[in-house]
Amino acid sequence: MLGPVILAASRSDRMRRLISAAPVTKQVVDRFIPGETLDDVVPIIEERTAQGLELTMDVVGEDITTPDQARAARDAYLALVDRLAELELGARVELSVKLSMFGQALPSPATTLNEGPRGPAPAFQGGHELALANVRPVVEAAAAIGTTVTLDAEDHTTLDSMFAIHEGLRKDFPQTGCVIQAYLFRTEADARRLAASGSRVRLVKGAYKEPAEVAYQQKHEIDKAYVRILRTLMEGEGYPMVGSHDPRLISIAQELARRAGRKPDEYEFQMLYGIRSDEHLRLAAEGHRMRVYTAFGTDWYGYFMRRLAEKPANLRFFLRSMVSKG
Ligand SMILES: Cc1cc2nc3c(=O)[nH]c(=O)nc-3n(C[C@H](O)[C@H](O)[C@H](O)COP(=O)(O)OP(=O)(O)OC[C@H]3O[C@@H](n4cnc5c(N)ncnc54)[C@H](O)[C@@H]3O)c2cc1C
Repeated sequence: MLGPVILAASRSDRMRRLISAAPVTKQVVDRFIPGETLDDVVPIIEERTAQGLELTMDVVGEDITTPDQARAARDAYLALVDRLAELELGARVELSVKLSMFGQALPSPATTLNEGPRGPAPAFQGGHELALANVRPVVEAAAAIGTTVTLDAEDHTTLDSMFAIHEGLRKDFPQTGCVIQAYLFRTEADARRLAASGSRVRLVKGAYKEPAEVAYQQKHEIDKAYVRILRTLMEGEGYPMVGSHDPRLISIAQELARRAGRKPDEYEFQMLYGIRSDEHLRLAAEGHRMRVYTAFGTDWYGYFMRRLAEKPANLRFFLRSMVSKG
C-alpha cells in the first residue's frame, strides 16, 4: 500500500525540498547512490570491476526544466566516458540514460512550429528531437571506447518516443540497448519486436506509478508477465539483460537460458548498487555476467524515492533514522 504513496511523493516539489534537506538523508541515500561526483565513484568502479563485476553507470537528474540542463546532462555523460577511457574500462562499464534528463519532456521549438489548425501533428510531443540530439553524441563516444548505452524506461507516456530513439540509434549503433517493464500490458508485444530484431534488452518489473488501464497492479500478475516476457527474450535473437533482485526470477532466468541453449556470455544479470550485494558476487563467482547499475550525482531525489517505494522497510529505516537524530 505504501509504494504508490511514496511514488506520488516522488513527483512533489514540496517533498523534494523537505527530504533533500533532512539532516540524516545523505547517510541513508548513500546506500543506493554512492557518490555525487565522478571522483567519488571512480574507486567504486575500480573496486567492483576488480571483483569480476561489470557496471552500468547512471548520472541521476531526471527532473530537468531547461535545454541548458539537458546539455549539461549530455556533458556529464561525456565526461564519464572520458574517465572510463582513461581507466581503460570501456569493455566492462556501460552507461544507462534517462531520456527525460536529455530533454525529452521539454517543450521543443518543433512542437511550437507545428501547432495550429493546419500544421501537421508532430510525431512526438515535447523534446523528442532535443533528447535524440543530446543522446547521440553520448552513444557515439561510448562506441568509440568499446562500450554501449542502454535507454532506461520511464513512465508509459514516454515509451513510444524512447523506442523510436532506440530504433534510430540502432541503425548506426546496433548495440544500443533499451529497457522494457513487465508491469505494462504493451510489453509482451514490445519484447517480441525487440527479440526479433536482435536488440540488447533489459527486462525489469517497472518502478513508476502506472494506472490500471495500462499496467498490472498485482505483484503475482507482474511476476507472471515477467516470466512470459523473459521466455520471449531468451528464445529470441537478442541479448537479454535480466534486471531483478528476485531470487525466484533469477532461478527461472537460468532455467530459461539453459532451455534456450544460451551460453553464460549470451545473457546477463543486472542488479542495483546497494541491493543484495552478496548476490552480485555469488552470481559472478558462478560464472555469470553480473552488471551493477550504479547511480551517482547530486539530483538523487527521484531515484532515491523509487528505491524507497520498492521496499517500504527502507522508508521505515529512513523515518527511524530521522526520529533518532531529531
Ligand atoms: C539493473 C536495473 C535497472 C533498472 N532499470 C529500470 C528502468 O529503466 N525502469 C524502471 O521502471 N525500473 C527499473 N528498475 C527497477 C525495477 O523496475 C524494479 O522496481 C526493481 O528492480 C525491484 O524489482 P525486483 O525485480 O528486484 O523485485 P522485487 O519483488 O521488488 O524485489 C525482490 C527482492 O529484492 C530486494 N529489493 C528489491 N528492491 C529493493 C529496494 N529498493 N531496497 C531493498 N531491497 C530491495 C528485496 O529483498 C526484495 O524482496 C531497474 C532495476 C534494475 C535491477
